[in-house]
Amino acid sequence: MSLDYSSKLLENAVEEMSRFPGIGKRSALRLILHLLNQDEEQTVDLAKALVKLRTEIKFCKNCHNISDSELCEICQNSNRQSEIICVVEDIRDVMAIENTQQYKGMYHVLGGKISPMDGVGPQNLNIESLVNKVRDGKIDEIIFALSSTMEGDTTNFYIYKQIQDYGIKTSSIARGISVGDELEFADEITLGRSIINRQPFENSLKS
Ligand SMILES: [Zn+2]
Repeated sequence: MSLDYSSKLLENAVEEMSRFPGIGKRSALRLILHLLNQDEEQTVDLAKALVKLRTEIKFCKNCHNISDSELCEICQNSNRQSEIICVVEDIRDVMAIENTQQYKGMYHVLGGKISPMDGVGPQNLNIESLVNKVRDGKIDEIIFALSSTMEGDTTNFYIYKQIQDYGIKTSSIARGISVGDELEFADEITLGRSIINRQPFENSLKS
């Protein structure tokens, strides 16, 4: 779809905005016009926040979660159980599980799921560092909290195969509830309960 612009500046801004997922040219135009209707300061603040975010954001060197410092706040917290690791896809899952206030272990953020269709293989994800943690012998339990989609199952199974010989406990959060892509939308009580009532991972292989 082509729009006729009276301004090259407007066209460029719409072009950039329309790169967001789910934002077409018309939606982008609406957002840009909204900005133009606000005080100039508001747009400048937005632009500054985005640049600051992009240039200063870090990924925790332990769990790969998005962080303001080398180690994220969760990994820095000595009250948490460092011998339990919950494996999740991205920061949205961490936020959803933290919201339940039922989990006091650590996380490991994979950064996606194995998906050959999308060209995502194990080497594209933070899997090696997870296996290394298990190999170092300080981990008692790995909890799989990926979505129960084919990609989620494939990823869980791939990791399970890598760590099963180390004799640690593996579990997965209860099935039948919305997890993974929908983890962030699952209600806190259901999600909290599914973490407390997590099942041995082997059980999920039989179904
Ligand atoms: Zn961390």
